Amino acid sequence: MNKMSVKDLKDLKGKKVLVRCDFNVPMKDGKITDENRIMGALPTIKYLLDAGAKVTLCSHMGKPHSIFSKEFKLNKKDQKKVDAGETTAEEIKAKALKDEPVKLTLAPVAKRRSALKEGEAVLIENLRFHWEEEKKDEAFCKALAYDAEIYVNDAFGTAHRSHASTAAIVEYGIIKTAVCGFLIEKELSVMADTLENPARPFVAILGGAKVADKLNVINNLLEKCDTLIIGGGMAYTFLKAKGYEVGTSLLDEEKIDYCKEMMAKAKAAGKELLLPVDTVVTSCFPDPIDGEVDAVTVDSDKIPADKMGMDIGEKTRALYASRIQNAKAVIWNGPMGVFENPTLAKGTIAVAQALADVYGKCTTIIGGGDSAAAVQQLGFADKVTHISTGGGASLELFEGKTLPGIACLNDKE
Ligand code: AMP
Repeated sequence: MNKMSVKDLKDLKGKKVLVRCDFNVPMKDGKITDENRIMGALPTIKYLLDAGAKVTLCSHMGKPHSIFSKEFKLNKKDQKKVDAGETTAEEIKAKALKDEPVKLTLAPVAKRRSALKEGEAVLIENLRFHWEEEKKDEAFCKALAYDAEIYVNDAFGTAHRSHASTAAIVEYGIIKTAVCGFLIEKELSVMADTLENPARPFVAILGGAKVADKLNVINNLLEKCDTLIIGGGMAYTFLKAKGYEVGTSLLDEEKIDYCKEMMAKAKAAGKELLLPVDTVVTSCFPDPIDGEVDAVTVDSDKIPADKMGMDIGEKTRALYASRIQNAKAVIWNGPMGVFENPTLAKGTIAVAQALADVYGKCTTIIGGGDSAAAVQQLGFADKVTHISTGGGASLELFEGKTLPGIACLNDKE
């Protein structure tokens, strides 16, 4: 990594530091369902506080579309329906700042920030209540920076966005000293290093709904990996490109030629591109999504005209697991099927299990999003090398893109 990190900064005592975190945690009924991002932000926050910095934390939460609403507040303390202790700000306070003498308050106002003492932190309310955040408004950047001397970006989950708090505040020259936090450093050191210089065999596993969402990812990973494994809804466009009928499965007609091109590219480069050899099919998409289904397994070249492919079959699970078993590095993004339904989650579970089985022998990286949630729900979180806190950001890394939230940071001297 050629970007400076908080570790490279000398003498933080009394320094005013603005830290962009990603506290955009999934919530259900006012409760946090996955606190990975909060936990990931803690090392940087603690480091800065221990060093005596005056810390202002900021983050976005959800998509409030520039309108203030209680639902998207980071601090829901005053929301009667939500139990104290279950709110984002309370959670951060409890986890990050434990019993330390730290003030954690809502502080969009300069007064609070100017009153900060060494080793104290404040949290600014959801940045996306302001349209200026996503539009990179310069006056907003200046207000956000206020009197901060140092900018720390630790919001990996938002590093692929070019917004006021993620990039513009530095790009406009408002804060000159700009470094990454420990979370971004860790995410990059594991993911970028593996992509650049993987141990081999290097296996990439891609799933999820649509091919169209992952065109550049497929193309870039094909160049880097030895085996590319395809599952999920996107597999059917590939199967169609292979000449198979796919019934009523998810199909992206416009991308059939692209899939042909990728298969030819793999062949020419001597890479293995694996598609499901058997498929779990149903008559229709489950409604509700976790409702009952009439699932049967068929070979992938025999999908009936009135059936829909919903998951990889048993033979495919074994095939994919065998490639994982022999791998020295694996990256995975996207479920193998409609994993929200217990009957159709077996393929996704099998991949998660196969990754857990090679723990310690192979670098295993989960690129955030649904696959990260699946690994966590299955209790395999401590049986993989790395679970990214950013689905979109890691996909852009897999595409070979430079993320704006990282590009703007100071280079190492
Ligand atoms: P993505 O956001 O692209 O990672 O896609 C995740 C979504 O893909 C999940 O909600 C899955 O239910 C869905 N998905 C996975 N496999 C299939 C499939 N065979 N047909 C339809 N949707 C699928």
